[in-house]
Amino acid sequence: MPAHRHFALAVMCFVANVACAGEVAASAGTDGPTQCPFGHKSIKAVPILYGLLRHSDELQRQIDNLEVWRGVGCARDEKTKFVCTECRYAFEPLAQAWARFGENPQSFAVPLAELVAGFAKNKQLTSRLIYYQCVTDKKVLSESIAFWTTTDSTKEVVAACLRDRGVKITEPRGLVENPSLQFLTGSAGGDTIMVELHTSNLRRGEVYITMDAKFANKPIAPAATDKR
Ligand SMILES: [Zn+2]
Repeated sequence: MPAHRHFALAVMCFVANVACAGEVAASAGTDGPTQCPFGHKSIKAVPILYGLLRHSDELQRQIDNLEVWRGVGCARDEKTKFVCTECRYAFEPLAQAWARFGENPQSFAVPLAELVAGFAKNKQLTSRLIYYQCVTDKKVLSESIAFWTTTDSTKEVVAACLRDRGVKITEPRGLVENPSLQFLTGSAGGDTIMVELHTSNLRRGEVYITMDAKFANKPIAPAATDKR
């Protein structure tokens, strides 16, 4: 089903570019949302900083304290990011959804899919893995992993990681690949898995993993505990 797959992957491209694609309006007021999908009402308006930011301990402290928000991936006319101080999901106005990045896969209010959370830290994947999840107040829209690698054969490394997780890799058909955007397809437990692999010459790999509707539309459960 090349056409179907291509459609799904195109959707993931969209997801990658605008953070997430939601269709359910969040509880947004005129100035911003007043509560997150998990019912927390501690929404903070955080000023967005754009441009190349010189990394410093002070900047990191301000980011950690939600005093400033790094403007990567934000719409240019966005001045303020509305962030829940309890669960750290941030409101995405274009998608009308909430997104969160984190290095601890156990720290998300909705548990990440096992395949995403358990994506092995292969020794060729250097530094850290950044996990991402985007939700509306009803369901999970997408989850992904970004990582940095020192290998030129990122696709092979990712395929090996997936095989370690019990995924049977199948060759994608009908997809034109280029060096910076490659695809992998596979199956596990009856689910079709599509992986979109973005790489740059900085060797930062971003792996977008999407599965069938069972995964993409899993309902959000109330946050039992908010681990950070
Ligand atoms: Zn919250």
